[in-house]
Amino acid sequence: MSAIEPPDAVIADHPLDRLTTVRTGGSAEFFARPESERELVAQLDWAKRSGLDIGIVGSGSNLLVSDDGFCGLAIKLAGDLVAIEKHGDLLVCGGGTRLPSAAAKTASWGLTGLEFGINIPGTAGGAVRMNANAYGGRLADVIESVRLATSEGVNEVAPESLGFSYRESSLGPEQVVTSVSFRLSPGEPERIRERLAEMRAWRKDAQPSGIKTFGSTFKNPDDPRADGMSSGQLLDAAGCRGLTAGQARLSEKHANFVENMGGASTADVLAVMAAARRRVFEKFELVLEPEVQVLGDISWPDDWDLGTDEAVEPGNG
Ligand SMILES: Cc1cc2nc3c(=O)[nH]c(=O)nc-3n(C[C@H](O)[C@H](O)[C@H](O)COP(=O)(O)OP(=O)(O)OC[C@H]3O[C@@H](n4cnc5c(N)ncnc54)[C@H](O)[C@@H]3O)c2cc1C
Repeated sequence: MSAIEPPDAVIADHPLDRLTTVRTGGSAEFFARPESERELVAQLDWAKRSGLDIGIVGSGSNLLVSDDGFCGLAIKLAGDLVAIEKHGDLLVCGGGTRLPSAAAKTASWGLTGLEFGINIPGTAGGAVRMNANAYGGRLADVIESVRLATSEGVNEVAPESLGFSYRESSLGPEQVVTSVSFRLSPGEPERIRERLAEMRAWRKDAQPSGIKTFGSTFKNPDDPRADGMSSGQLLDAAGCRGLTAGQARLSEKHANFVENMGGASTADVLAVMAAARRRVFEKFELVLEPEVQVLGDISWPDDWDLGTDEAVEPGNG
């Protein structure tokens, strides 16, 4: 418990499982839903003075929360921080805005360039942190600027300073994206709607829908031993489709998607990840790197350790 009195809107002991798309994990020691940058900075400042870690939860679509929960302040943006506005050809989204909602808005506002966001079930802030891309659409190509909050205040930065690489940025857990300005182009609303529908259909064909998952579990390897295969193809070739641990299983439709079949725990998810990664290692001698981010302290099952220096840990959420 922090000795310094928390700001009013901070509550103690809040469950996080239902804030993630895979629906596993424990509670946050402290939790807040700031509605403005001012409120957020005050909460970040309190957390810093109290020596608490920060964990930002977007749509939780790439997030695995420890079964023991998160010791620190978990933050989910709300109010002004989920607003969508049009300023000429700029689409300005709060950091907590759902990307599919922003992409859908672009059709009615006659702006093109963000259609690929329809298939990324995360927030604008989470997409920046993860450098999310889909179907050839690259987030970095359409970002004009990003507003970042820390315990010191808020500043605006250009995309070049965000250190984007494959599914990564240089943002740390204490840097919160409060707003993203996308530079789009004028477009015909009907054409944009058609493009959105086309993209939804592609996704429906390729991926399972209606399941509790965090999307891609492992990053696609940049390794000659993969011989150009994606993680999904490697997992498939290693016989991982349908691989199960407790209530977690690798999807029959897309082997790189973990599915919570009902009452899975995060430990079940980690167990199936470890078993799948081992199978790929045994068949191809390559180590898959997790894409999913982790919030809280997790313990990997013993077989996560492949006895090679290449073993990679997931990022912290
Ligand atoms: C069915 C499915 C399909 C998917 N398809 C794709 C795809 O095509 N392409 C793709 O790139 N990803 C895809 N994903 C993964 C996921 O949607 C993206 O990584 C997304 O960008 C995560 O955003 P989020 O808001 O859900 O972040 P979360 O999962 O909540 O968090 C992920 C990380 O971002 C941080 N974060 C969240 N919000 C902020 C913020 N405001 N400021 C700073 N840090 C923040 C978190 O602390 C954590 O480290 C898919 C996921 C699912 C479930």
